[in-house]
Amino acid sequence: MKALAYYGKNDVRVVEKPKPQIEHPEDAILRVTTAAICGSDLHLYHSLVPDTRIGHTFGHECVGIVDEVGPEVTAVQPGDRVVVPFNIACGRCFFCERGEYSQCANANPYNDLGGIYGYSHTTGGYDGGQAEYVRVPYANIGPRKLPDDISDAQAVMLADIFPTGYFGADIANIQPGDTVVVFGAGPVGLFAMKSARDFFGAGRIIAVDHVPYRLEFAARECGAETVNFDEVPDCVQQLRDLTGGRGPDACIDAVGLEASGSLPQSAQGGLLLQAGSTVALGWAINAVRPGGTISIIGVYGPPFNHFFPIGWAMNRNLTLRMGQTPVLQYIDDLMQKTREGQIDPSFVVTHELSLDEAPRGYEIFERKQDECIKVLLHP
Ligand SMILES: [Zn+2]
Ligand SMILES: [Zn+2]
Repeated sequence: MKALAYYGKNDVRVVEKPKPQIEHPEDAILRVTTAAICGSDLHLYHSLVPDTRIGHTFGHECVGIVDEVGPEVTAVQPGDRVVVPFNIACGRCFFCERGEYSQCANANPYNDLGGIYGYSHTTGGYDGGQAEYVRVPYANIGPRKLPDDISDAQAVMLADIFPTGYFGADIANIQPGDTVVVFGAGPVGLFAMKSARDFFGAGRIIAVDHVPYRLEFAARECGAETVNFDEVPDCVQQLRDLTGGRGPDACIDAVGLEASGSLPQSAQGGLLLQAGSTVALGWAINAVRPGGTISIIGVYGPPFNHFFPIGWAMNRNLTLRMGQTPVLQYIDDLMQKTREGQIDPSFVVTHELSLDEAPRGYEIFERKQDECIKVLLHP
């Protein structure tokens, strides 16, 4: 079969690989019809995720038709059209039983992080869905059957970015009328904005980014006010000025480890920021009002553990919540919201390419060319 494969920094290729096989009685094999490229795939593409091995296939957002099932799979059968959550979860361990599906104790044989499709051996070493076929472990737990009135483009957003944006708003303690700042107007940030406004009652949304077309998109699609941090002398001061000097009620970091921009010297604690940084998080913690909430859904890897402004956070009574979204907690509700027309999750799609064109898709997405927001691949 054809599959995208990693060959080193900024080098992905479409190659021939063996079709995945049933390896366990609870496995299913999915014939992928639509896979998406995620902002977090760019961290892999930039070789920033430890233990990303040559030949690894990326892709944790996919929709397809069940092709084959193991003898213990009862929840889906060949021919079913399904979306698969990005977390791989067994459904029966300590964490899964508490709904903490992103922390499954059984899905990752390499360490105590959870399992994720196509996201290096750090999260289990599972080949992802940017391929003609993908192996789906624990197929009684993850895959969700899709009704005919949900398109592939809508459904593939339910694998990660819609639940992740929604989770970012859910853990931000938003009260009706609150002002919520979302750092990062990429696909996940846009879903956080829409969720905060439409489902959690935020009164004002302020989007922070430095890519003009993305800020315009956030203003148009999510009703956001915008701050281009390249155009203001001090992003934190700007956010305070926009909120009567007090600061926003909640800040959602939808950027993660590849933030651009820089913290004021005073906030760096004497540490020089290196390639990859916690700039967006630093701004969030400095800008939010006392007693406010910081919600972190942008991805941070292990090298970034030490750049944390704990003194600011502790002395201003902030609440910090964060994590990898437990998609299974949200996906059925968000699918229902989609069917009822409360949201059309395909609003972020700007590019649809064949799998063969995937390397170009990565380039367009990475370089933010052609007003790219979200790329779908069709194997
Ligand atoms: Zn993703
Ligand atoms: Zn589990």
